[in-house]
Amino acid sequence: MTTGFVFDERYMWHDTGSAAAFLPAGGSIQPDTHVENPEPKRRLRNLLDVSGVLETLTDVEPRPATREELERFHTEAYVDRIAAESEAGGGDAGDLTPFGSDSYEIARLAAGGVIEATDAVLDGTVDDAYALVRPPGHHAEADLGRGFCVFGNLAIAAMHARAVRDVDRVAVVDFDVHHGNGTQKAFYDDPNVLPISVHQAEYYPPGEGGVDEIGEGDGEGYTVNVPLPPGSGVGAYETVFDRVVIPALDAFEPDLIYLASGVDGGAIDPMGRMMLHSEGYRELTERLLDAAERHCDGRLVAAHEGGYSSAYAPFSGLAIVEALRGERSDVEDPFMPVFEEMAYQELQPHQETVIEEAAAILDVALRE
Ligand code: ZN
Repeated sequence: MTTGFVFDERYMWHDTGSAAAFLPAGGSIQPDTHVENPEPKRRLRNLLDVSGVLETLTDVEPRPATREELERFHTEAYVDRIAAESEAGGGDAGDLTPFGSDSYEIARLAAGGVIEATDAVLDGTVDDAYALVRPPGHHAEADLGRGFCVFGNLAIAAMHARAVRDVDRVAVVDFDVHHGNGTQKAFYDDPNVLPISVHQAEYYPPGEGGVDEIGEGDGEGYTVNVPLPPGSGVGAYETVFDRVVIPALDAFEPDLIYLASGVDGGAIDPMGRMMLHSEGYRELTERLLDAAERHCDGRLVAAHEGGYSSAYAPFSGLAIVEALRGERSDVEDPFMPVFEEMAYQELQPHQETVIEEAAAILDVALRE
């Protein structure tokens, strides 16, 4: 397989400022490093390099998304505001989304990177692609930055695929530990785009991503949510893919599949309460690739989202890229012996209850 790779050093220069975890420093909060900082992504790129995988990937050069491309999803006023605040040295895009000087240009480059990855896959220059972009995108809404996301990179790329490249049906599988609210809202009434989000229940954004959120109007039945209980491991995630994600893709028959590649479901991620490990991520990615082979000649575009463990995000990311490439490197994940022995990695009854609920809704929604 030929796998495209999007990266730009400027992605690492998006400045989330002084914070403790996700709250801005000040008052009782001593200044510290923001949880969404360059290090986990930079170290993933470094591990791709050291493992020898990077040199097997095909460089796909990012470019800034144009105003027209941004405004297929975002409002003109929102884009204007981000541009002005960035010019003035930084601000907050809305809800927990601090940014610094030049972040407007960097966020445009992130959205444009996913567009270029999409074009490379649609052109057949590469078979599939991984866009290691920053800032992330899946929480951003039309007029509001949320959860560290300025522009909806993947939603904007999917809209480009539909509007400019005449792609008919697009599926988005989001296994980031947080709900893919931005992508969902972008296509909530659209039967041509199927967002599927598998996430930690009732986490972020608060109160969103329930199984009953299935789309509206013409899009009813074309949104899928699986809110897993905290503590879910590889067994729960694989069962979700077996019973919900893959059957949904098989019923929908997409012409292009996106993966919102958040690795914050990893066992020691500071922001997630799940127990995934690199071999779990590899397995989930391989199942998506099989579905992509069945439906759309393997056309799969992954866009990086969350993943906040500097130590571990690189190993999860490496496994996903290796899966896309269809080849393992010599690097063995040194954390695997610990994570695979964690108790409750296998499917638990209370997790299965939620999965069955989502599967039942899916049966009704996609039957017609
Ligand atoms: Zn996340």
